[in-house]
Amino acid sequence: MNLIYKSTRGGEGVTASQAILKGLADDGGLFVPSQIPVLDVPVEELAKMTYQEVAYQVMKLYLTDFTEEELKSCIDKAYDSKFDAEEIAPMVYADGAYYLELFHGATIAFKDMALSILPHLMTTSARKNHVDHEIVILTATSGDTGKAAMAGFADVEGTRIIVFYPKDGVSPVQEKQMVTQKGKNTFVVGIHGNFDDAQTGVKKMFNDKELAAVLDKNGYQFSSANSINIGRLVPQIVYYVYAYAMLVHNEEIQNGEKINVVVPTGNFGNILAAYYAKNMGLPIDRLICASNENKVLYDFFSTGTYDRNRDFVLTSSPSMDILISSNLERLIYKAAGDDPKKNAELMAALSGEGKYEITSEMKEALKDFYGNYASEAETAAMIHDIYEDTGYVIDTHTAVAAAVYKKYIDATGDMKKTVIASTASPFKFARSVMTAIDEKYASMEDFELIDELSRIADVEVPKAVEEIRTASVLHTAQCDVDEMEATVKKWLNIQE
Ligand SMILES: *Cc1c(COP(=O)(O)O)cnc(C)c1O
Repeated sequence: MNLIYKSTRGGEGVTASQAILKGLADDGGLFVPSQIPVLDVPVEELAKMTYQEVAYQVMKLYLTDFTEEELKSCIDKAYDSKFDAEEIAPMVYADGAYYLELFHGATIAFKDMALSILPHLMTTSARKNHVDHEIVILTATSGDTGKAAMAGFADVEGTRIIVFYPKDGVSPVQEKQMVTQKGKNTFVVGIHGNFDDAQTGVKKMFNDKELAAVLDKNGYQFSSANSINIGRLVPQIVYYVYAYAMLVHNEEIQNGEKINVVVPTGNFGNILAAYYAKNMGLPIDRLICASNENKVLYDFFSTGTYDRNRDFVLTSSPSMDILISSNLERLIYKAAGDDPKKNAELMAALSGEGKYEITSEMKEALKDFYGNYASEAETAAMIHDIYEDTGYVIDTHTAVAAAVYKKYIDATGDMKKTVIASTASPFKFARSVMTAIDEKYASMEDFELIDELSRIADVEVPKAVEEIRTASVLHTAQCDVDEMEATVKKWLNIQE
């Protein structure tokens, strides 16, 4: 029997492959499985498996309309030598916690864990549903997602990807990563506007029925690679199962022993995957949600009110600078007892007044979560202290999680073994990381800092960073905000 995916705002029932192709449901809701499947392989078996084998055991429970051959082929194409660690997601013990390193893929951030398989899931889904159009992935990015999505879709047959980024709103390393992207099917455009302008422009194109008809006539259809796609959530469940099995394998925990998980959170995709893993039967106790100074989620978990009406703070962990955590909707829907009407009301309040309040019953349903946040100073101090004490260097996002974990222990005294999701390589945020370790690094150039980081951490400079040192710029396109649609049409060779 196929697992059916429903919208969090209505009744739409589709298969997994259809949900992956559509991205968002027609009513604006997010696709959720009608029930969360139960892990049906004993942990002692999983403990003997490779990452790819665990991935198959987990993903087959969600993507039930994929054949074994299809799914295994997607997994093998995604988790190969693009990753610079054989374990794909290795674990490092430091300073009282297990750091699950999710940054060994092509763009050295955790988004590679899902975006290296999504293109294969999508082309397989297209084939299964007899889609003969070329799939055009439209993406607005504030820096990280665009690069990871392009790296995943580059030269994948039957797809094209176009990324819009704010011309003056990303870091020099992020821009260099994007404009040097190879692949005949990739296209990068800097827009004269900010990230919100890019995102609004992309959403407008998605919802434009006339544009959809023009694309259809020309043999194209749009799809989305952002984190609301169920094809990004499911691959993220895998590494929590893998981490638990690895802890059992290494005799760090007894089989069945409960662990805690700490996740540096922005759009709520990664921690939601941990929640799904727990609901599949994995012995996870608390889900610790770590925010930076944009602490909407901390306030939500402590008060039951989600309120985005506040100033947006630019922090040293930019991938968590976000005031609307899209994936939280899937949790709200669950907490509301799988009630799409109740969820839709709350989401309408969010888009209207920018806030909503949940009932005390719903709050009770969220008691597995603990939320807290770290200030910029606490984040920097964490990087400094862990390096001084252990020699291990963590990035700014991971440091937010580590600082929140300390607060959690202080508040609860709970000493269960704990996995911290390490979401980016420190090389990606070398300046913030190095100046946290020692102010004297402030005067160094970017690549000097990278070489110095390599030296003090005793870690080789990752390939992704080496490449941009010398790579040539391949994309120079720019446009105004109101030219985005024309830019897409021109690139796709569509005549007006
Ligand atoms: C995207 C990102 C996050 C936040 O993950 P969500 O799934 O959006 O909560 C944290 N750290 C890094 C490095 C990221 O790129």
